[in-house]
Amino acid sequence: MDPVCQANTFPGTTIRSRTSPLGPKPCSVYGNVDETRNRVEQQRMANSKIAVIPGDGIGPEITETTLHILNEIGFHADWVFLEAGLPAIERGLPPMPPETIERIREIGVALKGPTTTPSGGGHPSANVALRKALDLFANVRPAKTLPGLKNLFEGKNIDLIVVRENTEDLYAGIEFKPDPDMALAMKVITRPGSTRLCKYAFELARRQSRKRVTAVHKANIMKMTDGMFLEVFHNVASGYPELHADDVIVDNCCMQLVTRPERFDVLVTENLYGDIVSDLCAGLVGGLGLAPGANIGEHCAVFEAVHGSAPDIAGKGIANPTALLLSSVMMLRHLGHDEKADRVQNAVLKVCGEGIYTTQDLGGHASTAEYGENIIKAANL
Ligand code: ATP
Repeated sequence: MDPVCQANTFPGTTIRSRTSPLGPKPCSVYGNVDETRNRVEQQRMANSKIAVIPGDGIGPEITETTLHILNEIGFHADWVFLEAGLPAIERGLPPMPPETIERIREIGVALKGPTTTPSGGGHPSANVALRKALDLFANVRPAKTLPGLKNLFEGKNIDLIVVRENTEDLYAGIEFKPDPDMALAMKVITRPGSTRLCKYAFELARRQSRKRVTAVHKANIMKMTDGMFLEVFHNVASGYPELHADDVIVDNCCMQLVTRPERFDVLVTENLYGDIVSDLCAGLVGGLGLAPGANIGEHCAVFEAVHGSAPDIAGKGIANPTALLLSSVMMLRHLGHDEKADRVQNAVLKVCGEGIYTTQDLGGHASTAEYGENIIKAANL
């Protein structure tokens, strides 16, 4: 059984291998750029440092619960706590301080809690700054039906991965006002950026023995930017004849994700569409509280939940820590700690599947801490 393959199938009914027809090559969602994995592996052997950013909003509470669970299942790392988001701003620093970025660059692996990004003004996004500074070009967001969990789409067998470009597009942050009544934003799509992302998605699909890779775009309207992305996608696809490659316009994609989500397998898309589509996919399988993610670059990997800082429930002790916990599962696998990753993953499946000790977002009454204790019990059975 290829342990890294297992990682890439989360969340799933049981841990199972997707044996690659290409043999026992490692099939890492999180480091298909093999050099990345090797580099991180070397760093892991040299020391056991892992950067942690608790962030703000619900970030500190879900980070604390996640680290407590990892500790209780016997995973001990030299956690290096770093500041970002509102705590950094309160100390007069940028939302993603340069020291934080440099420490993550040195360490190579980080577990990150959410950081608030105000709408329509205020400070810039800490996430965008980190992803750009460390060139974390691929954002990998799996969404899979969780057995037993009650939700609108429980009858559907959803098992898909969104691979979102993480450094370009309208998130490049190039906005300006030529006059007070006009605001412009620049959509940046590059051929190299699109090529490495599409290659990443096809490699991931190949290594997980997936069947289909679908490009999500709006090339009928944005003929140059999305047109180039689509052209690159089909060029890259020609190198993977065993995979079915197709494309879908983003609005149609959203409709089909709701009406027949089981049609999709791996979705690859630009930054903005990926942001929106991956939240939609989280909703298909139980909500943002369950959606993990990984940001992958050639030299670093940062694991974080899809959701934001959820200020509406911050400090109440009711946030669902599962998305960050599952991001830590992705991290454990990335670092080669597959047995521990399996235990946490199976504990999540058990506790969420039973539905007794779930948090409010999943219809339960458990606090963040109570849920965490039940995960520990299930993991240590
Ligand atoms: P961002 O743009 O930074 O991703 P957002 O504006 O999309 O953030 P979130 O912070 O992700 O918003 O929250 C959206 C909704 O989902 C909120 O109502 C929040 O309470 C809920 N939510 C998000 N994460 C969780 C969680 N871990 N547990 C419970 N509810 C959550």
